[in-house]
Amino acid sequence: MSDGRRPLLAMRGLMTRFHTMDGIVDAVDGVDLDLFEGETVGLVGESGCGKSVTALSILQLLRCPPAEISGRILFHDMNLLDLGREGIRKIRGKAISMIFQEPMTSLNPVLTIGEQISEAIRLHQGMKAPEAWKWAEQMLQMVQIPSPRQRAKDYPHKLSGGMRQRAMIAMALSCKPQLLLADEPTTALDVTIQAQILSLMMKLKEEFKTSILLITHDLGVISEMATRVAVMYAGKIVEEAPVRELFKDPRHPYTRGLLGSVPVIGRKAQTGRRLQEIPGMVPSPLEMPSGCRFHPRCPSTMPVCSKQEPQEVRLGEYRRVQCWLAGC
Ligand code: SF4
Repeated sequence: MSDGRRPLLAMRGLMTRFHTMDGIVDAVDGVDLDLFEGETVGLVGESGCGKSVTALSILQLLRCPPAEISGRILFHDMNLLDLGREGIRKIRGKAISMIFQEPMTSLNPVLTIGEQISEAIRLHQGMKAPEAWKWAEQMLQMVQIPSPRQRAKDYPHKLSGGMRQRAMIAMALSCKPQLLLADEPTTALDVTIQAQILSLMMKLKEEFKTSILLITHDLGVISEMATRVAVMYAGKIVEEAPVRELFKDPRHPYTRGLLGSVPVIGRKAQTGRRLQEIPGMVPSPLEMPSGCRFHPRCPSTMPVCSKQEPQEVRLGEYRRVQCWLAGC
């Protein structure tokens, strides 16, 4: 990315803090990440590491418990955190859309699929109702829903999980957003449907020139879809790399652990090694370990690791690691 392009989205020192009954939780702690036009960037990590909160912070969709978001989220150089409620509402669903793991969280059960998609189009594109309805039907066709004219009149519960996911993608892309935040978009689906949805997303991304921030715990999905990947652990990005480099030469022990825990057919026969596991669990945000947050689980931990947090080491453009062993 050394061609002087400016990022479409640039997060700088993003912090998302929740004030809970049990204390203050820093769910996202100083995240820096760039995303360029037409690019798909993966954000990976275990559940509870802050990936979804990062995406929800971009669109300021965090309500309960009350979240305090600070730092900068620059979209076309404009800080989304300065826009206020009305300003961000105009961006949501138009310039930036989001799709979720469970479509029922964003589809309204008492409105037909057509009503929901066309409402978004009318709101953001200023189209008249009949024109918006037609566009909604075309979007359903584009996401390969059979009999789109009929399906547009159906309520969400009448559609299968895969169809609902397609409908949600249709709704998210109906206003041709520049950025799509996709939060575990295929996790709840069967493997065959998963593959269909992923290839559909790639096709539509090309068609609409949309950039994607793809949030997943599934490194297989990342290898298929993303050009660059950021690995998140306990609210921080611990490694970032172009996807091929990350798979070939992971530098952070956590990234190595994640890659070692991906099932590969014939791995034992080829390498003599079984599937690895990362011992322990992601720490509670209320009891973050001192120093490097990964030290209680790290197979390479050293005395300094529990005392001092490692600095981020840059190994190249869009190649960085936060570990005392980086560069060794
Ligand atoms: Fe492991 Fe230490 Fe690196 Fe943390 S800083 S990942 S504990 S080696």
